Amino acid sequence: MKYIPYGKQNITEEDIDAVVDVLKSDYITQGAKIEEFEQQIARYVGSQYAVAFSSGTAALHASYFSLGLSQGDEFITSPLTFVATSNAGLYLGARPIFCDVENITGNINPDYIEQKITKKTKIIVPIHYAGNPAHLEQIYEIAQRNNISIVEDGAHALGATYKGNKIGSCEFSDISIFSFHPVKHITTGEGGAATTNNKKLYNRMRLFRSHGKTKEKDTFQKKNEGPWYFEMHALGYNYRMTDFQAALGISQLSKIDGFIQKRREIAQKYNDAFKDCKYFDIITESKFGKSAYHLYPILLKKIYMHKKKELFNELQKKNIGVQVHYLPINREPYYEDIGYDYEETPQAKHFYEREISIPIFPAMEENQIEYVTKTIKSIF
Ligand SMILES: *Cc1c(COP(=O)(O)O)cnc(C)c1O
Repeated sequence: MKYIPYGKQNITEEDIDAVVDVLKSDYITQGAKIEEFEQQIARYVGSQYAVAFSSGTAALHASYFSLGLSQGDEFITSPLTFVATSNAGLYLGARPIFCDVENITGNINPDYIEQKITKKTKIIVPIHYAGNPAHLEQIYEIAQRNNISIVEDGAHALGATYKGNKIGSCEFSDISIFSFHPVKHITTGEGGAATTNNKKLYNRMRLFRSHGKTKEKDTFQKKNEGPWYFEMHALGYNYRMTDFQAALGISQLSKIDGFIQKRREIAQKYNDAFKDCKYFDIITESKFGKSAYHLYPILLKKIYMHKKKELFNELQKKNIGVQVHYLPINREPYYEDIGYDYEETPQAKHFYEREISIPIFPAMEENQIEYVTKTIKSIF
C-alpha cells in the first residue's frame, strides 16, 4: 500500500481552469472573485457577511482586533488547538487564558469557563475540535451573562452543524473563522475567512485586512481632498487573498457537500469497525450537532497510553500517515517561557497523551479505508 496521508486536498481540472482564467484576466488580486467568494461563503454558512483573508490565522487576528482586543485584555480558549488560535491574541498584546477540555471530545469544557473569567476577559474562543461542534449555546449563555464576545475557531468545522444551523452562521457568536489550508475542507492554497452578522465588525475586519485604510467617504475624519483620497484609521496589515485563490475557493466550495458527505461516510466506516474496541476510544458525535470530520482521532485506553510512540511509529512504517492533534499550547517552549504551565489543564494533557489522528480525506478510496482499519487492528 502506498503512503496514505492523514489529510489531503482534492483538486480537479475544473479547479485548475478556474485559477487559470483569473491569471489570464486583468485583475489577479482585489478583483471581483473575492467578493463572489465572500458572498458564497456567507450563503453557505448562513451568515450576513464574510471577509476573505490570506490565512485562517489572519482571520483570527482580524476578528480579535475588530472586537477591540488589546494590551492588557484576556481571552479564554482551549490549549488543544493549533497555536494560531492563541498566537493571534498575543499579536495584539492580550493574554490567552487556557481553559481545560472535555476528555471525550477535546472541546472546551463550558463548566470550567466561568472560573477563568476576570474583569479583563474580552473574548471566549471555542474550537470545534476535529469538526465536532462545541457546546455553543451554553458558552453563549456564559458570555452574555458576563458581557463577553465569542469568536468560534471553525477551522475544523466548515460544513458542521449545531442545532440545525451551520457553524459560521454565528447564531451563538459574534464571529466565526475558517481556514482554507490544503488539509482543511476546501482549499485556496493558503487562505481563510471570517463570517459575522454584525456590520460594524464586518467593516472593522475589512479595514484591518487592507492596512487600516478606507475609501468610504461617510467615515472620513478629515476633508475629502479629491477622488484619490483615502484615509488610514487603524494600524492594519496586508491580509488580502488573491483573486485566483478566490476563484479556486469558489470552485472548491461548489463541491463541499460531496466532500463533507465523503468524510462522514469514511467516519461511519471507522465507527463501525472500531465499535466496542478494546484498545482505544473514538469521539462520538454530540446529540446537538453534526461533525464535519476534519480529523478522525483515536484515543488510546489507559493500558495502551505508554505505547503511543511505538504504535505511532508502527503505523507510519505501514504507510499510514498518522498525526497528533495537538501538543497542548501551554507546553510549547515559547508559552512556558511567558509563564504558562501544562499541568494547569490536566484533561488537555491526558487527551494529548492518548490521541492519534488517522487518515480521513474525501479522495480516500475503499481499499485504503479497509487497509487502515485492518492494519490498526492487527498492530494492536
Ligand atoms: C488550520 C487552523 C488554523 C489556522 O489556519 P491557517 O489558514 O493555517 O492560518 C487555526 N485554528 C485551527 C484550529 C486550525 O486547525
